Amino acid sequence: MHSIQKRKHIQDTAQERGVGGTVDSPNLSNKRIANQKSPKQMATKPKIEKPNLTRSMKCTHCGLCCEETEMLMTNADITALEKLGYPTRSFVHFGKKGTAQLRNNRGTCVFYNTEKRRCKVYRLRPRGCRIYPVIYGEEEGIVRDDLCPEKNTVSEKEEERKGKQLLKLLKTIDSEARRRMSIT
Ligand code: SF4
Ligand code: SF4
Repeated sequence: MHSIQKRKHIQDTAQERGVGGTVDSPNLSNKRIANQKSPKQMATKPKIEKPNLTRSMKCTHCGLCCEETEMLMTNADITALEKLGYPTRSFVHFGKKGTAQLRNNRGTCVFYNTEKRRCKVYRLRPRGCRIYPVIYGEEEGIVRDDLCPEKNTVSEKEEERKGKQLLKLLKTIDSEARRRMSIT
């Protein structure tokens, strides 16, 4: 599961705040071949892993963040997905407090292809999914979600950049939720 914000806060606050996760199809067989080492390589000293300071995170496409998703969406996210032909109600659940949240089907996001282990709308996935595993906790602020096994591959720069994007996104989500509530 993933959300822009931790679950307890989503349920508790009026300004509910919801990644992506990035779930492109992993080519496991190729990966295994690429990982096989020659005897010479195996004899060399193991490389010391340097901390990731700048590059983008290393998503393994495990799909964990697409299980029981609580990802919140903006109107722009919804419009982009509607343009692909998906009826709004097939993928959006509107919460009591006016937030728009991705729907699940049998335990995973409606857009997650469990056989291929990939996101069906990867290029147009909601903004929060792109920002994930950086999320917002009311007590901690901007953090990397513990759920993601690769959270430590998010560089400091990437966390900072995504954190700023996330704060903007949350403002949009909050104001859109308020607007929905005022017209219903
Ligand atoms: S590695 Fe993290 S971001 Fe990638 S699919 Fe898994 S949980 Fe999601
Ligand atoms: S839209 Fe795609 S990346 Fe986001 S939760 Fe759904 S399947 Fe995962």
